[in-house]
Parts: sequence; structure tokens; C-alpha cells
Amino acid sequence: MTETARKIADNLHRVMERVEKAASAAGRDPESVKVIGVTKYVDPDLAGMLFHAGCHRLGENRPQVLLEKVTALAELKAEWHFIGHLQRNKVKKILPHVSLIHSLDSLRLAESVNRLASEQALPIDALLEVNISGDEAKHGFLPQQIPGVLTAIHKLSHVRVTGLMGMAGLKSTAKEVRGQFCRLRELRDSLQPTVQDGVPITELSMGMSGDFELAIAEGATMVRIGSVLFEGVL
Ligand SMILES: *Cc1c(COP(=O)(O)O)cnc(C)c1O
Repeated sequence: MTETARKIADNLHRVMERVEKAASAAGRDPESVKVIGVTKYVDPDLAGMLFHAGCHRLGENRPQVLLEKVTALAELKAEWHFIGHLQRNKVKKILPHVSLIHSLDSLRLAESVNRLASEQALPIDALLEVNISGDEAKHGFLPQQIPGVLTAIHKLSHVRVTGLMGMAGLKSTAKEVRGQFCRLRELRDSLQPTVQDGVPITELSMGMSGDFELAIAEGATMVRIGSVLFEGVL
């Protein structure tokens, strides 16, 4: 094992310990929190090291970079997550490679995804991105739009919404961040018992390197973690 691979494995080990601790402190099963290793800062080699260290769910926020890594790491059978703003003209290329789109942020995008997914006969799971911070620069639906958006998406045959995604405000204090995550959880809870194809809306993708413990305390089922996994190797 190279020095770099060892460093990444150590980082992952520490993150998993923190995830377990945060889950236990919240009275939750640590298994109920999935870590998505965000590889956008690194080349395919380092992303491969993260996979070999045991992180098999990888996330990218740019279609082109996702495709490069999928190609370079094809033999690894990683589970790829798309976590960034998605332009409609990029949907077709990424669809065959991703298991979850975290960032459905408009109905037009959902309709494009549905059309291309039907053409390719590849039904896709997705999360609705919600603007929980009020930051104007952020993408995502407003919380009050979500029930109507879900009704519209339920008419689409090849997009299945399994949860919600949100990002804390850049300038928010820890207390504000926790409040934002809390409201996303409450929004998800308020949608029960909505089901699509028998699948309920359960996932909560929230929390990054700087705030994943707060997110887990508030019920995150997926945390998207990048920079702390590559500390000391960038
Ligand atoms: C980059 C990114 C992350 C990871 O951020 P870190 O702070 O590096 O952990 C998570 N989610 C999204 C949408 C991102 O773009």
C-alpha cells in the first residue's frame, strides 16, 4: 500500500468512527447512514484508493468528470451518485452509470430525466433538492413546492423519488445549520405516507465534511463527504 492509499484509508476509518458515534448518540443504527465519498477533488487513482479502502458509494457533481471516473474505474463496480446541478443536455450520458441523482431541482429536469430514462429503459431513483438555507445562489425547490412537485413527478413512469436532499447555508452558524437539517427532516416526515411504486420517501441526503454529525443527529440517511476523506493527500 502506498503512503497516499494508507492516508486515505485512515481518513475513511476516522470518518466511519465519527459516523458511528454520531448515529449512536442520536439513538440510531449506524447502518442507517450511508457515506457517499465525494471524489470531485481528486483524480481517478485517488478515487480508486477510496473505493479499495471500503467506500463503495462514490459521488461526483460534474457529468464530464463522472464519466471520466466511471470509465477509468470501470472494473471496480462502484455505486455512482450524481450530486451536482444537472443540465438537461447532460442527462442522457450519465443515466446508464448512476444509481441515484441527488439533485433534481426543477420539474423540467425531472421531465427530461423521465423521457431519457424511458428511451433507455433505465428507470432512475432521485432525490428532490430543497433549498433549506434560503441562499439565493443555491439550487433547489422551496419547501412549500415539494407536495405539488411530487404529485407531478408521480405521473412520470421512469423517475422515482425516494427522498430529499439539502445543503446548509454557507454562512450559517452550527445552530442555524441544525435548524435547516431539522426542517428538511420534518418536510420528509410531513410527506408520509406518500409512496411511489410501493416505495416510500425515506432518504435524507444532508451533511458534508463540515456538518455531517449535525445532519446525522437530525436523521440523515446519506452524508456526502469529500474533503475530510482526502485530507493530507491534496
Ligand atoms: C463537494 C460537495 C460535497 C462534499 O463537500 P465536502 O465539504 O468536501 O465534504 C457534498 N455535496 C455536494 C453537492 C458537493 O458539491
